[in-house]
Amino acid sequence: MTLQAKLEKLREQALLRSRRQVDSACGPEVRVAGRTLLAFASNDYLGLAADPLLVAAAQQGAARYGVGAGASHLVSGHYMAHHELEARLAAFVGLPRALFFSTGYMANLGVITSLAGPGDAVFSDELNHASLIDGIRLSGAEKHIYPHLDLAALEALLKACDRPGKLVVSDAVFGMDGDLANLPALLELCERHDAWLMVDDAHGFGVRGSQGRGSLVHSGIVSPRIVYIGTLGKAAGVAGAFAAGDPDVIEWLVQRARTYIFTTGAPPLLAHALLASIDLIERGEDRRSHLARLIAQLRDGLKFKRWRLLDSTTAIQPVVIGENSEALRVGAALLEAGIWLPVIRPPTVPVGTARLRISLSAAHTAEQVGRLVTTLTELE
Ligand code: PMP
Repeated sequence: MTLQAKLEKLREQALLRSRRQVDSACGPEVRVAGRTLLAFASNDYLGLAADPLLVAAAQQGAARYGVGAGASHLVSGHYMAHHELEARLAAFVGLPRALFFSTGYMANLGVITSLAGPGDAVFSDELNHASLIDGIRLSGAEKHIYPHLDLAALEALLKACDRPGKLVVSDAVFGMDGDLANLPALLELCERHDAWLMVDDAHGFGVRGSQGRGSLVHSGIVSPRIVYIGTLGKAAGVAGAFAAGDPDVIEWLVQRARTYIFTTGAPPLLAHALLASIDLIERGEDRRSHLARLIAQLRDGLKFKRWRLLDSTTAIQPVVIGENSEALRVGAALLEAGIWLPVIRPPTVPVGTARLRISLSAAHTAEQVGRLVTTLTELE
């Protein structure tokens, strides 16, 4: 089949994607094609992506370091700002050491391929993020997918496995469903079966736990067998990610993680801005409690007959519509009404569960959430 025919097939299945060009900063209201849209589409959960303090910090960072790192970290692209950020992040999440990666995708690929290889076994929740799935594939390890949140199934798989190295991988907050992994129970299983536990907290870091310190702090668990991933392009409002954990694990990543070693360091100005972002997260109790009020307001307001609001306590509030074409039709009608909600279709979510992914931010107002509730209710 030619690429043209493959593209046509995607179009027929309502699976063709397109990109909207945003001509303003990330925020509740964005300019798109000359219109102002009310957006519930980003992962900027604390509303920091366009915060003036962070913009100023990025400018200071650029003045001090320029705009490019110039080389990979192990050559000459490791700057003071990167180093300070790693120390700050480790202390913030309560783990001994951290390593800053350019993106969460690269962190996940790098960590999994460094901790597991052919001969080992990796255990993964079926709804884990694509970057975790790709990391597992790349590692060459034996792959075991367990049903979403099904710890009994995971335990049976762990019990039956005689590989020397075992790694359990899970999102802490599932990005397309907004629900939560039971981290203490996962850790207990890993302890019982001598496995590493890798927790991807892309959607929890900055939002969950005391002062936004993330899902491990929220659950009150610590263990040298945990490798924690936080991403910095969502609640932290900038870009990048970090792995944190035992000092030997982090040193091993420095030596072995190919997505760390063989790529140009992220611009140090971003690390400089991120230092300011961590301060804002730490002092962000007002933002987090405003966000919690918006989540409650949305859930109280949305009462569907045919559609299904998933059971989520987080800023990710998905409305499952079902068929791709129906979900696209609703997305278009919302756009007509000036509201931008991303329509998420397979393969990002299972077939038949196309959905609107409402993502709330502390930058939204109660009035804006009220407008969303009214419009969705009218459209069902
Ligand atoms: N993990 C999860 C759970 C995610 O949702 C994402 C981003 N969508 C990533 C990792 C990748 O992070 P980044 O965008 O920084 O590459």
